[in-house]
Amino acid sequence: MKILVADKIHEDGLKILKEFAEVEVATDLKPDQLVKKIEGFDAIVVRSATKVTKEIIAAGKNLKFIARAGVGLDNVDAAAAKDRGITVFNAPEAPSVAVAELVLSLMLAFSRKIPQADLSVKSGKWEKKLFMGNELRGKTLGVVGTGRIGQAAAERAKGFEMKILLYDVVKNEDFARRIGAQYVSLENVLRESDFITIHVPLIPQTERMIGKKEIAMMKPNAVLVNTSRGKILDETALVEALENKRIGGACLDVFENEPPAGSPLLKLQNVVLAPHIGASTSESQRDAAVVIANKIKVAVGGR
Ligand code: NAD
Repeated sequence: MKILVADKIHEDGLKILKEFAEVEVATDLKPDQLVKKIEGFDAIVVRSATKVTKEIIAAGKNLKFIARAGVGLDNVDAAAAKDRGITVFNAPEAPSVAVAELVLSLMLAFSRKIPQADLSVKSGKWEKKLFMGNELRGKTLGVVGTGRIGQAAAERAKGFEMKILLYDVVKNEDFARRIGAQYVSLENVLRESDFITIHVPLIPQTERMIGKKEIAMMKPNAVLVNTSRGKILDETALVEALENKRIGGACLDVFENEPPAGSPLLKLQNVVLAPHIGASTSESQRDAAVVIANKIKVAVGGR
């Protein structure tokens, strides 16, 4: 078994691959170099930089596995792989804790005005009175989408003594019972929550699922947290609500356009913004490499 690792992955993943295969690491290859190189390899492992195009798939006469050490498969021509009967692996389970911790970080940063306080101290000021904040304790968190990340966020919010409301098209009652939370309608989540955090996939049914009508249902001080995908929110409606102080604020890691150049969001005070860093922890990158290495190992019968 010969595996080509075409982007840098964590060494813990490489170690697993080397247990059962001959591994060559060759990063920064140009598309034509990769087309020439791929023949003879049984598997290719990539992260984000390398695009596994149909030309590369066609040239990979021995290819049986394509693995992306990350969540999405935007850089892999999955249809071309399917046509050739090549198995494609990714690691959607790897960043759940990283994203969930970011959700809590954003809520805390918003509630304690950390970004503004940091800027103030660094500019030589000592404005204690400006930075009176609020606690998460006792507040209600609405979790929209209770899959891997939604559950991890809810569990962590429980540790901050928040009351949790859940909404999903598929209810996981065991989970709800375990953390002492309850499933309610989306309308109830919107009407009753102090913080609402979104964790659904971007599919036609979820595109702009939080728009003007939904925002109008939210409490005047409610804070919307989005670490899922930008297009799940109607960003224009959100900006209007934030400009008119219709809701308390928003914490966003994802945007309709990334980067959100020229967006009115960049000028608002009642937002905390991050550049799509949900999965950006060293632990999450390591987990992604380990997850895909184990998936290939199991697939070749090396359990
Ligand atoms: P998951 O598949 O484990 O969970 C998604 C949940 O959404 C499921 O429980 C599903 O039943 C539910 N759902 C689907 N359609 C729904 C609908 N119409 N209404 C209500 N619920 C619905 O996914 P996950 O791993 O928890 O990821 C959640 C989101 O986080 C995805 O959008 C993913 O792209 C995003 N994500 C972001 C980052 C980041 O860097 N910010 C990193 C990883 C994942």
